[in-house]
Amino acid sequence: MAGLYLHIPFCKQACHYCDFHFSTNLSRADELVDAMAQEIRLQKGFFGPVSTSIETVYLGGGTPSLLTKDQLKRLFTAIHSNFQISPNAEVTLEANPDDISSAALESWIQLGVNRLSIGIQTFDQAALAYCNRAHNATEAMQAVQKAQAAGIYNISIDLMYGIPISNTAVWDNDIRTALGLGVPHISAYCLTVEPKTTFGHWAKIGKLTAIDEDIAAQQYDTLVERLKQSGYEHYEVSNFALPGKYAIHNTNYWRYHPYLGIGPSAHTFDGQNRYANVANNIKYISGIQIDPDNKTVWRSIETLTGDEKIGEYLLTSLRTQWGADLIFLKDQLGYHLGPSVETMILGWVADGLADYISGQKLILTDAGRLLADHLTLKLLP
Ligand code: SF4
Repeated sequence: MAGLYLHIPFCKQACHYCDFHFSTNLSRADELVDAMAQEIRLQKGFFGPVSTSIETVYLGGGTPSLLTKDQLKRLFTAIHSNFQISPNAEVTLEANPDDISSAALESWIQLGVNRLSIGIQTFDQAALAYCNRAHNATEAMQAVQKAQAAGIYNISIDLMYGIPISNTAVWDNDIRTALGLGVPHISAYCLTVEPKTTFGHWAKIGKLTAIDEDIAAQQYDTLVERLKQSGYEHYEVSNFALPGKYAIHNTNYWRYHPYLGIGPSAHTFDGQNRYANVANNIKYISGIQIDPDNKTVWRSIETLTGDEKIGEYLLTSLRTQWGADLIFLKDQLGYHLGPSVETMILGWVADGLADYISGQKLILTDAGRLLADHLTLKLLP
């Protein structure tokens, strides 16, 4: 399965916790779109024969819903002119609630978008303002309802727990409200205070105290319990889906499938190497336009060692409900779990942290997935 990712590096305003690559200056959005269309043309042969069809297209960011209809159309035209997109492809657009209108939805549907990932984070007005989100609580609710009214039911919403001024009652209400919207997919992340953000600065000067880890863990436990009771599968540490409604694009990352990333800061994986595009809009535009064939100007290459491949596969696969395929690990990545590692895994099984079929599968339980990174480190060669 092949996936295509487009990073749209613009946002209306900077959320206080965010350290993704984006700019709030849209003056060069047209040039950026043209450069991305050019990169798509340059990468035409990435997936091999033209007959290789792309199963997922994901526009993330940043805020893809900020682009105009014409800008999005230019990107989709470039995609369809250079790649074979499967007729059943999952085509996701990340959208913020304040950008979702009937007209915008209609244009996205016309372009082939069939799935939305809506950045709600919380339905609490005070918490939204504290995080400097651009939308309000009413827009958060209405965004989902408008999308459903327009005929898009394949919707994921992002929620965030561990917000410093939030509390258990607010989080309970966020979960209840999310469930009431009837969306098939929910992603939930803990707010982390990153150094180069406003919250990072506030923490440094004593204006913000990160939420107690135990309280954040309780909020996560509540989420897992409530969503499972409501029929959602907890299929990855931070992701929940009604049966069959997994995010195919992200699931392919976790299954070690190749993907091509287009745009500033986007990453690419071809099975052997990782490529990282420069995380700077101006450098990206000039690199693509001035010296398109010299790819080192606008992206860097990292060839993964055998051990790094094994580590990446274990780190990502063990976060999912499908776990690590030990046959793939042995045949494709050359790593066989030795007797001492097997003994350790049997200890995890006895402690309720893992399920294990010798030589075939290692799957972490819910309790084990909470410790996924820690346990994975113990498996590394
Ligand atoms: S809208 Fe998303 S990408 Fe943009 S600043 Fe906020 S969290 Fe970051």
